Amino acid sequence: MFSKTILSSALLALPFSILALPAPASPALFRRDAGPVLEQDSVNASLPNVTIYATGGTIASKGETSGQTVGYSVGLGVKDLVDAVPEILNISNIYGLQVANVGSQEVDYNILLALAHNITKDLAKEETTGVVVTHGTDNLEETAFFLDLVINSTKPVVVVGSMRPATALSADGPLNLYQAVTLAASEKAKNRGAMIVLNDRIGAAFYATKNSANSLDTFYATEQGQLGFFINQVPYFYYTPAAVPGKPHFSVGANTSLPQVDIIYTHEDNNPALVKASIESGSKGIVFAGSGAGSVDDAMLAVAEKQFNSTHTPMVVSHRTVDGFVPVEDVQDYMIPSGFLNPQKARVLLQLAVNAGYSNEKVREVFDALHP
Ligand code: ASP
Repeated sequence: MFSKTILSSALLALPFSILALPAPASPALFRRDAGPVLEQDSVNASLPNVTIYATGGTIASKGETSGQTVGYSVGLGVKDLVDAVPEILNISNIYGLQVANVGSQEVDYNILLALAHNITKDLAKEETTGVVVTHGTDNLEETAFFLDLVINSTKPVVVVGSMRPATALSADGPLNLYQAVTLAASEKAKNRGAMIVLNDRIGAAFYATKNSANSLDTFYATEQGQLGFFINQVPYFYYTPAAVPGKPHFSVGANTSLPQVDIIYTHEDNNPALVKASIESGSKGIVFAGSGAGSVDDAMLAVAEKQFNSTHTPMVVSHRTVDGFVPVEDVQDYMIPSGFLNPQKARVLLQLAVNAGYSNEKVREVFDALHP
């Protein structure tokens, strides 16, 4: 069943070598330049070509019993994922690259850059129709948002996960993967930026967020809505492609690392010392997850202002509520409101802006442009 599937390793860039390799021990081992090897003579020329970039997560996890839906561990490789859905080989030639095999809480800039570098090269090839990234759902929205900002292609980039491990009754991974590949191979999916597929829904990576820690129907953007839906495994879009206003593009092609940017979650009885601690430990930018529309208490603001005046570290204020907007009127002059972006997405944007060497004024312009 797997004869049409070509696998290559991010470690060795050799076809089929991944079948024998254990999961890499450390992200530092990844070769960022090892793209998929396309072997056109062994594929069905009438089918589209989709590459699956596997990173781990629940979709690649096994439990002890079919009833177990928590406490499982990551252990399936990209070939296992495809083997579980042989039907996808009828709709696309599939190429596989094991970029990592971790819970998404372990995803770091090594993995993000490995994805960005390989996907950029892959999509530049005429024969590549689209790509799928399999990912743990916990931090999936951060990787999807990152890819949305750094991949410059009209071709589909689809990020997919599952809420139940592969061994569970009614595991959702196989159908989610089938739909993700369908979408990545679809003409209709072009020019829509990075997308998230779970539970029949197609969401915009820019806006969709994980809303429930446990239920299958977890990815959506309450205010901005979904892009589309699957019916009988056919993707339907509600609208023709639309653009996020002012969505920036960042190049990370030359990067081997990304700057540290921290989030400080505010609450009653805040600890103001966290601001200084963050900067002293190397942070080049701070996002405050403010309460309501970006409230931060006076004691923390006093430390933040002092730190800003001495270090000019850019400071963005977001909202710890799931939805909402931080307006400029609600933040100090030296701080930048995140607008609609939640703290985890604001952190990725600030990290990319700092990485690009932007001045604080230019960072402000980037955030402001998203809500003209
Ligand atoms: N802990 C898992 C992860 O994010 C959860 C999931 O994939 O649903 O890797």
